[in-house]
Amino acid sequence: MMDPTHEPVAGGRLDAEAYARNFADLTPPLTRHEAFVEAERCYFCYDAPCLNACPTRIDIALFIRQIAAGNDQGAAETILSANIMGGMCARVCPVETLCEEACVREHAEGKPVHIGLLQRHATDAVMKTGEQPFGRAPSTGKTVAVVGAGPAGLSCAHRLAMLGHAVTLFDAKPKPGGLNEYGIAAYKAVDDFAQREVDFILSIGGIELRPGMALGAGLDLATLQADYHAVFLGLGLAGTNALEGMGEAAHIVDAVGFIEALRQSGNKAELPVGRRVVVVGGGMTAVDAAVQAKKLGAEEVTIVYRRGPEHMKASLFEQELAQKNGVTIRHWASPVGFERQDGRVSAALFAQRRPDDAAGSVARTAAVPADMVLVAIGQTFVEAPLGTATVALSGGRILVDEERRTTVPGVWAGGDCVAGGQDLTVSAVEDGKQAALSIDRALKQAASQADRSVLPASLAGVAASAASLAATAAAKLGL
Ligand SMILES: Cc1cc2nc3c(=O)[nH]c(=O)nc-3n(C[C@H](O)[C@H](O)[C@H](O)COP(=O)(O)OP(=O)(O)OC[C@H]3O[C@@H](n4cnc5c(N)ncnc54)[C@H](O)[C@@H]3O)c2cc1C
Ligand code: SF4
Repeated sequence: MMDPTHEPVAGGRLDAEAYARNFADLTPPLTRHEAFVEAERCYFCYDAPCLNACPTRIDIALFIRQIAAGNDQGAAETILSANIMGGMCARVCPVETLCEEACVREHAEGKPVHIGLLQRHATDAVMKTGEQPFGRAPSTGKTVAVVGAGPAGLSCAHRLAMLGHAVTLFDAKPKPGGLNEYGIAAYKAVDDFAQREVDFILSIGGIELRPGMALGAGLDLATLQADYHAVFLGLGLAGTNALEGMGEAAHIVDAVGFIEALRQSGNKAELPVGRRVVVVGGGMTAVDAAVQAKKLGAEEVTIVYRRGPEHMKASLFEQELAQKNGVTIRHWASPVGFERQDGRVSAALFAQRRPDDAAGSVARTAAVPADMVLVAIGQTFVEAPLGTATVALSGGRILVDEERRTTVPGVWAGGDCVAGGQDLTVSAVEDGKQAALSIDRALKQAASQADRSVLPASLAGVAASAASLAATAAAKLGL
């Protein structure tokens, strides 16, 4: 029988127990007592810097105070009223560069209050009850099409539903959740958390989910504009960058596709992984792909990145996570080609530079043996689904103003597909929320203008005589 440990690329490298251990929760939840002790560390700062560092502006001092007072339900409502994906964000936010970096205890003693863990503690408590803490306003009679059921689309849909609008939520994929379901590392969101959170969000009512429906393939923007009062686009980044001009070989794989297969697999032993894996890139996707390859049983995993550690988009915490999991990171190395054997990749070739060499001259070319190469050099917005609509782009993504309005009246957009964002779950959630609030304002303004223009004749008469009375009075007073 084939021994998978000797094959260059194979599944089943580990036993069932090792897979379960490797893909368990990265950061287990706090116990009630631990949460209480951690909450007591908070100074409940006035004008708290942690709040300003949160893209969704959760009132962190307030929710921590509520946990300290034993009011987990109230704490969760504080969080979720600002960020309906507070549960997922507690698991995936790079808190070390957001709220926890800003925490005064981080500055004073290098040990911030563990805001992310406390947020998870509170939101888990509410998710366990299965109850939706928010109700819906009376129906406005307005309909909104939301395209893309990722964090941006789900956040937008939930806020619109709260405000009384009827939402139809389209997504090209069979499951909602976007990258929460298909991209986030498996050990960050265990126990099917992404789908449980989607169920929680949809339980508000007023949102009709239509999976398997893609803009640009059966759905088009002009029809949505005609059929709905407003449209929100949360399309994410459907394309990935490839290494150009280096030829092809078996087992040179797009890292996002590798992670998607892993997230969707019910049995990790079925997933083929190389004995020696090279990951090209320096962002979260590169780290996630590398760590997960190691956890699938790869013997050697190397991330190669063209610049230094301080330039990597993956935070220092994530770089450390990779190293703790046995991943080697090589800096100042740019891919230049591959070696092949029988049509399969056998080594990745890199131009190695000196960090202090401003001219960027190549010190030497290095070969890193590889049975599998995972390419994680960025994702791109695919504009084809917009069809002939004149939605303006900036830097290859949709141009929006502060309210997330696109250049096409009646069409809003948010999340990774818009220009100038941070490409984080939490910023997509904020975009969706802000767009929903803007849509609500626009629909209410349009309704009140329409009301004025259809003022009944009797009321119009009253208004006219009131105006003439005012004019007469003003004339008498010599105004
Ligand atoms: C591998 C990976 C790991 C990441 N890890 C983290 C992390 O740990 N922490 C973090 O904060 N961020 C992380 N991110 C970034 C984060 O996942 C994104 O910023 C976030 O998901 C963006 O949300 P979104 O709704 O804009 O897009 P997406 O989550 O991409 O959702 C877009 C949705 O639109 C749908 N769609 C696309 N095109 C169409 C169409 N034509 N018609 C209909 N539907 C369509 C898609 O199917 C998808 O459901 C990671 C990203 C990747 C790729
Ligand atoms: S900055 Fe830190 S100590 Fe101050 S309120 Fe925020 S979490 Fe608490």
